[in-house]
Amino acid sequence: GLRIGVLALQGDFREHLRAVEAAGATGIGIRRPAELDDIDGLIIPGGESTTIDKLARIFDLADPLRKHIASGLPVYGSCAGMILLANDIADPATDLAGNPQETFGGLDITVRRNAFGRQRESFETDLDFKGLEFSAREHGVDPVHAVFIRGPWVERVGPGVEILAQVEPDKARHTDTLHGLARIVAVRSGQLLATSFHPEVTGEKRVHELFIRMIRGEA
Ligand code: GLN
Repeated sequence: GLRIGVLALQGDFREHLRAVEAAGATGIGIRRPAELDDIDGLIIPGGESTTIDKLARIFDLADPLRKHIASGLPVYGSCAGMILLANDIADPATDLAGNPQETFGGLDITVRRNAFGRQRESFETDLDFKGLEFSAREHGVDPVHAVFIRGPWVERVGPGVEILAQVEPDKARHTDTLHGLARIVAVRSGQLLATSFHPEVTGEKRVHELFIRMIRGEA
């Protein structure tokens, strides 16, 4: 069967490991560079992107990860994982020495961190999500129930990046944060998939199933 790594440095990697197993693949926590050589795909979990960035550099995982992404390893990032896959951050955090946080990159997007507001602005909404036709029932594809916890949104998509889902302007907790615009919260480019929200915490299996289909070349 498929072996899917979950970057297990910080954040909700346990939930992703569970979601991977529920979707029928084998989940493997990744903490060392050599473990990257033995997987069919990788998930970067939600958490704190600055912390995951720092730990990845300390554990010598950042450069190997960049190389694997560049050579076509399928990767799915949720929330902090989306930030870490983005080529550009609109508002990167800086450390005490003034160095901006880094990303692994690979996805030609610009993200804005904590874009929907702070913790108390966390919200849930139903999204139409492209690419889930495999799960259609008689009435069509059920919406994805999405949980946003200090999530980013995507402010720019480069050529070749497909928009899979957006939050409509009237759907966020504080709609004024959206400035009347639909905000992009799920994208795909080649073998890279990213969501601003956390399907791993709601029992929603289809985003992980989509990722597994991407790995198999079925989507
Ligand atoms: N705000 C966090 C960050 O910038 C992401 C939040 C999350 O992953 N739930 O890393």
